[in-house]
Amino acid sequence: MTTPMSASLALPLPCAPIPRRLTAPPAGWTTDADVIVVGSGIAGLTCALRLREQVGRVLLVTKTVLSAGSTAWAQGGIAAALDPDDSPEDHLQDTLVAGVGLCDVDAVRALVTEGPDRVRELVSLGAEFDRADDGEIKLTREGGHHRDRIAHAGGDATGAEISRALIEALRRVQEDPGIEVIEHALVVDLLTAADGAACGVTLHVIGEGQVDGVGAAFARAVVLATGGLGQIYTSTTNPPVATGDGMAAALRAGARITDLEFVQFHPTVLFLGEGSTGQQPLISEAVRGEGAFLVDDAGRRFMQGEHPLADLAPRDVVARAILRVMREQDRDHVWLDARHLGADFLAERFPSIVARCRELGFDPATQLLPVAPAQHYASGGVETDLVGRSSIDGLYACGECACTGVHGANRLASNSLLEGLVFAHRIADDIAARILDGTLPLREAARGRDGADLLDAHHRLGLQRAMTRGSGPVRSGEALGETMAVLNELAALPPSVAEPGPPSWETSNLLHLGQVLTLLASRREETRGGHVRLDHPDQDDERWLVRQSVDVGPDGIPMMSERPADGKGRA
Ligand SMILES: Cc1cc2nc3c(=O)[nH]c(=O)nc-3n(C[C@H](O)[C@H](O)[C@H](O)COP(=O)(O)OP(=O)(O)OC[C@H]3O[C@@H](n4cnc5c(N)ncnc54)[C@H](O)[C@@H]3O)c2cc1C
Repeated sequence: MTTPMSASLALPLPCAPIPRRLTAPPAGWTTDADVIVVGSGIAGLTCALRLREQVGRVLLVTKTVLSAGSTAWAQGGIAAALDPDDSPEDHLQDTLVAGVGLCDVDAVRALVTEGPDRVRELVSLGAEFDRADDGEIKLTREGGHHRDRIAHAGGDATGAEISRALIEALRRVQEDPGIEVIEHALVVDLLTAADGAACGVTLHVIGEGQVDGVGAAFARAVVLATGGLGQIYTSTTNPPVATGDGMAAALRAGARITDLEFVQFHPTVLFLGEGSTGQQPLISEAVRGEGAFLVDDAGRRFMQGEHPLADLAPRDVVARAILRVMREQDRDHVWLDARHLGADFLAERFPSIVARCRELGFDPATQLLPVAPAQHYASGGVETDLVGRSSIDGLYACGECACTGVHGANRLASNSLLEGLVFAHRIADDIAARILDGTLPLREAARGRDGADLLDAHHRLGLQRAMTRGSGPVRSGEALGETMAVLNELAALPPSVAEPGPPSWETSNLLHLGQVLTLLASRREETRGGHVRLDHPDQDDERWLVRQSVDVGPDGIPMMSERPADGKGRA
């Protein structure tokens, strides 16, 4: 990958070294394939299915069961210019505006132009989207979109339907010797060859028979499709598997991580009380798309006059307005009013959301819903080019764990499922072509360094609290410094008794990504997209129309760099 980067930059805060690998027992078994795909969300499943049509042997591994991951939780839908009155160009413009000047325009162009065909292919594969009376796919609108272009399924169960269709497609070919699936297989680290290229993974399998415990899987190429890092914060819409494992493994192996400071906090997550941690129930933007609106404690519609799209402004704008109102009124939430939509409409259009609200004691047809922003999406991740290649040869990243540049400083609603779909195809085609032309040979793994101490899982909540306080939805130089001090303390704990295993591997992954996120956030002294600085409340295009990255050097010291962004779509 050739991206112009500036020279290495000084770190804005002292930061403990990041180890090059995690402590794990030696591999007790080995296997190999042409390509290893890690993760079974929309990105991993699509990539594995497409690869299977073109290469000899694909190995798909996933941390728990195939359906775990954010994909199955997606409610709103998938964005694509499917309406004859819409166009990829309009979709591109909306995406660039949401990304506030930091999108990679070529990546966005690939997304919006290939998106409609990829969605139609998903339909041919068996995904059943909601249809209008004329049989066409029903399209709705979400924040930041100027057109109705969101295809949805089961009302508000789009992700579950996409996941079902892809898993069924996989089951149809699972007997095929060209594809092997291992569930309950947690990838710990990447294996690299003497020339630095990726040549496999170490993984921990809870299984029976041969593949049980830690093993090593070798391949010509590895595709990370491990999703987001939501569990780095105290409250998130992401499921428990979202611990950033793939991003952290790539970071430790020396891959470039970019834009990690841009975290999307979804404005309308059901507020269940201060002590509520982990995955929280999302109230989809589509509810506002259908006419629900936000009010403060006094019943005032505070989004009016805040942005031309009012309640449907881009997510960062809405989240920021909510946080401001919460601060001004000293409250821990605002309210979402959907009562006027009526019980019948709400039950038909949003069956899962209504059912979940009722389970928790709220009736959206008769009550205001308490809502507050919570972590939702990582816009940054493993930097890739237009065919998903990372800065390490043989290592690809796809979906939420990747940073293709499509989202810039903030993801446009419903663009992430589409990103996984579009780039999974591009990656599969690139790998197949490279296997054919011989540029992805099987390589031998170089002897790894010793693993570093692990962070015991009982530190996870402390880490999440520190991240939420300093590197969360509202940041300041001082708070970021305090967060980094906590992370440094955790990194410097004396050799512990932490047992190598999923809980301590995941917690260590959260620590390593927390360090990078906090470094990037403290250096960016402005407010843009998902990055909000109270001490630098304005967007500064003169200085900060740049994208920041971190690479970990051989000694584990993070090295920062930046390069100019396209700047298109900035407000
Ligand atoms: C509640 C919610 C609602 C959303 N709504 C929408 C929406 O309406 N539209 C939209 O476009 N986007 C939406 N998103 C975002 C979108 O769902 C995700 O960005 C997208 O599904 C990510 O897909 P993915 O394949 O990259 O990752 P995921 O679907 O998260 O899959 C990651 C996979 O990797 C596996 N994995 C993780 N770590 C390891 C490891 N160490 N070893 C092996 N396997 C591992 C996981 O188990 C999982 O199978 C929503 C997200 C949430 C949480």
